[in-house]
Amino acid sequence: MAQIRMETNLLGANDMLAAKNRRIFKARGLLVINLMSSPGSGKTTLLEKTIEALRGRIELGVIEGDLYTDQDAMRIENKGVEVVQINTEGTCHLDAGMIEKAWSRLEHLPIQLLFIENVGNLVCPAEFDLGEDIRVVVLSTTEGHDKVLKYPLVFQQAQVVVLNKIDLLPYTDFDLNAFNRDLQLVNPQIRVFQLSGRTGEGLAQWTEWLVEEVGKRVI
Ligand code: MG
Ligand code: ZN
Repeated sequence: MAQIRMETNLLGANDMLAAKNRRIFKARGLLVINLMSSPGSGKTTLLEKTIEALRGRIELGVIEGDLYTDQDAMRIENKGVEVVQINTEGTCHLDAGMIEKAWSRLEHLPIQLLFIENVGNLVCPAEFDLGEDIRVVVLSTTEGHDKVLKYPLVFQQAQVVVLNKIDLLPYTDFDLNAFNRDLQLVNPQIRVFQLSGRTGEGLAQWTEWLVEEVGKRVI
Protein backbone atom coordinates (compact mmCIF):
# COMPACT_ATOMS: atom_id res chain seq x y z
CA MET A 1 0.00 0.00 0.00
CA ALA A 2 2.72 2.47 0.92
CA GLN A 3 4.47 1.88 -2.36
CA ILE A 4 1.32 2.49 -4.36
CA ARG A 5 0.66 5.75 -2.51
CA MET A 6 4.21 6.92 -3.16
CA GLU A 7 3.94 6.29 -6.89
CA THR A 8 0.65 8.15 -7.01
CA ASN A 9 2.23 11.16 -5.33
CA LEU A 10 5.19 11.00 -7.67
CA LEU A 11 2.91 11.07 -10.69
CA GLY A 12 0.82 13.83 -9.11
CA ALA A 13 3.90 16.03 -8.73
CA ASN A 14 4.90 15.25 -12.30
CA ASP A 15 1.45 16.20 -13.60
CA MET A 16 1.66 19.59 -11.86
CA LEU A 17 5.04 20.32 -13.45
CA ALA A 18 3.79 19.09 -16.81
CA ALA A 19 0.83 21.48 -16.59
CA LYS A 20 3.27 24.31 -15.88
CA ASN A 21 5.43 23.35 -18.88
CA ARG A 22 2.31 23.19 -21.04
CA ARG A 23 1.23 26.72 -20.03
CA ILE A 24 4.69 28.07 -20.89
CA PHE A 25 4.79 26.28 -24.26
CA LYS A 26 1.23 27.39 -25.14
CA ALA A 27 2.02 31.02 -24.31
CA ARG A 28 4.93 30.79 -26.76
CA GLY A 29 2.80 29.27 -29.52
CA LEU A 30 5.22 26.36 -29.54
CA LEU A 31 4.38 22.92 -30.92
CA VAL A 32 5.88 20.28 -28.61
CA ILE A 33 6.10 16.67 -29.70
CA ASN A 34 6.97 13.79 -27.39
CA LEU A 35 8.53 11.04 -29.52
CA MET A 36 8.29 7.60 -27.96
CA SER A 37 9.38 4.17 -29.14
CA SER A 38 11.44 1.13 -28.24
CA PRO A 39 15.20 1.27 -28.84
CA GLY A 40 16.16 0.93 -32.49
CA SER A 41 12.88 2.01 -34.07
CA GLY A 42 14.61 4.86 -35.89
CA LYS A 43 13.58 7.96 -33.86
CA THR A 44 16.89 9.76 -34.30
CA THR A 45 17.08 8.99 -38.04
CA LEU A 46 13.51 10.25 -38.40
CA LEU A 47 14.51 13.43 -36.57
CA GLU A 48 17.56 13.93 -38.82
CA LYS A 49 15.43 13.57 -41.96
CA THR A 50 12.71 15.81 -40.52
CA ILE A 51 15.25 18.51 -39.72
CA GLU A 52 16.57 18.39 -43.31
CA ALA A 53 13.06 18.58 -44.76
CA LEU A 54 12.00 21.53 -42.59
CA ARG A 55 15.21 23.53 -42.91
CA GLY A 56 14.45 27.17 -43.76
CA ARG A 57 10.74 26.66 -43.05
CA ILE A 58 10.48 25.97 -39.33
CA GLU A 59 12.78 26.76 -36.41
CA LEU A 60 13.42 23.56 -34.49
CA GLY A 61 14.79 22.62 -31.11
CA VAL A 62 15.41 19.13 -29.76
CA ILE A 63 15.61 17.64 -26.29
CA GLU A 64 17.33 14.26 -26.39
CA GLY A 65 16.67 11.78 -23.63
CA ASP A 66 19.12 8.94 -23.29
CA LEU A 67 20.17 6.61 -20.50
CA TYR A 68 23.90 7.40 -20.62
CA THR A 69 25.29 8.49 -24.01
CA ASP A 70 25.19 11.68 -26.07
CA GLN A 71 25.52 9.95 -29.47
CA ASP A 72 22.01 10.87 -30.61
CA ALA A 73 22.39 14.48 -29.44
CA MET A 74 25.62 14.73 -31.47
CA ARG A 75 23.79 13.48 -34.56
CA ILE A 76 21.15 16.22 -34.12
CA GLU A 77 23.78 18.87 -33.43
CA ASN A 78 25.54 17.87 -36.66
CA LYS A 79 22.36 18.88 -38.48
CA GLY A 80 22.76 22.42 -37.15
CA VAL A 81 19.86 22.28 -34.71
CA GLU A 82 19.98 23.41 -31.08
CA VAL A 83 19.85 20.34 -28.85
CA VAL A 84 19.84 19.75 -25.11
CA GLN A 85 20.96 16.36 -23.88
CA ILE A 86 19.34 14.78 -20.85
CA ASN A 87 21.18 11.78 -19.48
CA THR A 88 18.77 10.02 -17.18
CA GLU A 89 21.55 7.88 -15.61
CA GLY A 90 19.54 4.72 -15.86
CA THR A 91 16.03 6.11 -15.44
CA CYS A 92 13.99 4.60 -18.24
CA HIS A 93 11.77 7.63 -19.03
CA LEU A 94 11.81 11.43 -19.08
CA ASP A 95 9.73 13.40 -16.60
CA ALA A 96 8.34 16.93 -16.58
CA GLY A 97 11.04 18.23 -14.21
CA MET A 98 13.77 17.17 -16.66
CA ILE A 99 11.95 19.01 -19.46
CA GLU A 100 11.58 22.15 -17.34
CA LYS A 101 15.38 22.21 -16.81
CA ALA A 102 16.20 21.44 -20.44
CA TRP A 103 13.80 24.13 -21.66
CA SER A 104 15.68 26.78 -19.66
CA ARG A 105 18.58 26.23 -22.13
CA LEU A 106 16.34 26.70 -25.18
CA GLU A 107 13.84 29.37 -24.15
CA HIS A 108 15.92 32.27 -25.51
CA LEU A 109 15.78 30.81 -29.04
CA PRO A 110 13.03 31.55 -31.62
CA ILE A 111 11.87 27.92 -31.72
CA GLN A 112 8.50 27.00 -33.27
CA LEU A 113 8.71 23.24 -32.95
CA LEU A 114 10.27 21.36 -30.06
CA PHE A 115 10.91 17.64 -30.38
CA ILE A 116 11.46 15.63 -27.24
CA GLU A 117 13.07 12.28 -28.01
CA ASN A 118 12.09 10.15 -25.04
CA VAL A 119 14.18 7.26 -23.71
CA GLY A 120 13.72 4.16 -25.88
CA ASN A 121 11.04 2.26 -23.95
CA LEU A 122 7.38 1.56 -24.74
CA VAL A 123 6.34 1.14 -21.11
CA CYS A 124 6.76 3.91 -18.53
CA PRO A 125 7.31 6.97 -20.79
CA ALA A 126 3.57 6.60 -21.47
CA GLU A 127 2.84 7.35 -17.80
CA PHE A 128 4.77 10.62 -17.64
CA ASP A 129 3.17 13.75 -19.04
CA LEU A 130 5.93 16.16 -20.08
CA GLY A 131 3.69 19.08 -21.04
CA GLU A 132 3.76 18.16 -24.74
CA ASP A 133 0.95 18.88 -27.23
CA ILE A 134 1.21 15.68 -29.20
CA ARG A 135 2.51 12.23 -28.45
CA VAL A 136 3.95 10.32 -31.36
CA VAL A 137 4.83 6.63 -31.17
CA VAL A 138 7.38 5.39 -33.65
CA LEU A 139 7.08 1.70 -34.42
CA SER A 140 9.19 0.00 -37.06
CA THR A 141 8.06 -2.88 -39.24
CA THR A 142 10.98 -4.97 -37.94
CA GLU A 143 9.53 -4.89 -34.41
CA GLY A 144 6.31 -6.66 -35.36
CA HIS A 145 2.64 -5.65 -35.47
CA ASP A 146 1.94 -7.33 -32.13
CA LYS A 147 3.39 -4.37 -30.16
CA VAL A 148 0.07 -2.49 -30.28
CA LEU A 149 -1.70 -5.06 -28.10
CA LYS A 150 1.38 -5.77 -25.99
CA TYR A 151 1.91 -2.11 -25.06
CA PRO A 152 -1.60 -0.65 -25.41
CA LEU A 153 -1.10 2.33 -23.04
CA VAL A 154 1.49 4.09 -25.16
CA PHE A 155 -0.73 3.70 -28.25
CA GLN A 156 -3.87 4.75 -26.36
CA GLN A 157 -2.27 7.98 -25.19
CA ALA A 158 -0.71 8.94 -28.52
CA GLN A 159 -2.32 11.01 -31.26
CA VAL A 160 0.00 9.76 -33.98
CA VAL A 161 1.83 6.57 -34.93
CA VAL A 162 4.73 6.63 -37.33
CA LEU A 163 5.14 3.20 -38.87
CA ASN A 164 8.81 3.40 -39.77
CA LYS A 165 11.04 1.21 -42.00
CA ILE A 166 8.16 0.69 -44.41
CA ASP A 167 10.81 -0.10 -47.05
CA LEU A 168 11.60 -3.29 -45.11
CA LEU A 169 7.97 -4.45 -44.97
CA PRO A 170 8.39 -7.16 -47.67
CA TYR A 171 11.24 -8.72 -45.67
CA THR A 172 9.35 -8.97 -42.38
CA ASP A 173 6.30 -10.81 -41.05
CA PHE A 174 4.72 -7.48 -40.16
CA ASP A 175 0.99 -7.75 -40.90
CA LEU A 176 -0.39 -4.32 -41.89
CA ASN A 177 -4.00 -5.48 -41.63
CA ALA A 178 -3.51 -6.83 -38.12
CA PHE A 179 -1.68 -3.64 -37.15
CA ASN A 180 -4.53 -1.42 -38.38
CA ARG A 181 -7.14 -3.68 -36.80
CA ASP A 182 -5.38 -3.60 -33.41
CA LEU A 183 -4.97 0.19 -33.57
CA GLN A 184 -8.72 0.45 -34.19
CA LEU A 185 -9.31 -1.54 -31.01
CA VAL A 186 -6.88 0.43 -28.87
CA ASN A 187 -7.22 3.96 -30.28
CA PRO A 188 -9.55 4.44 -33.27
CA GLN A 189 -8.73 8.19 -33.42
CA ILE A 190 -5.01 7.68 -33.95
CA ARG A 191 -3.38 9.02 -37.10
CA VAL A 192 -0.88 6.79 -38.93
CA PHE A 193 2.02 7.81 -41.13
CA GLN A 194 3.79 5.04 -43.03
CA LEU A 195 7.30 6.07 -43.97
CA SER A 196 10.94 5.18 -44.22
CA GLY A 197 13.39 7.50 -42.51
CA ARG A 198 16.16 5.77 -44.44
CA THR A 199 14.78 6.06 -48.00
CA GLY A 200 12.56 9.11 -47.46
CA GLU A 201 9.46 7.30 -48.74
CA GLY A 202 6.32 8.82 -47.16
CA LEU A 203 8.33 11.46 -45.32
CA ALA A 204 6.66 14.42 -47.05
CA GLN A 205 3.21 13.57 -45.62
CA TRP A 206 4.72 13.61 -42.13
CA THR A 207 6.62 16.88 -42.56
CA GLU A 208 3.62 18.62 -44.21
CA TRP A 209 1.49 17.57 -41.25
CA LEU A 210 4.10 19.09 -38.91
CA VAL A 211 4.05 22.37 -40.88
CA GLU A 212 0.26 22.40 -40.61
CA GLU A 213 0.35 21.80 -36.84
CA VAL A 214 2.96 24.52 -36.31
CA GLY A 215 0.73 26.88 -38.34
CA LYS A 216 -2.20 26.26 -36.01
CA ARG A 217 -0.20 27.49 -33.05
CA VAL A 218 1.33 30.67 -34.44
CA ILE A 219 0.46 33.54 -32.12
MG1 MG B 1 17.71 7.79 -30.59
ZN1 ZN C 1 10.77 4.50 -16.56
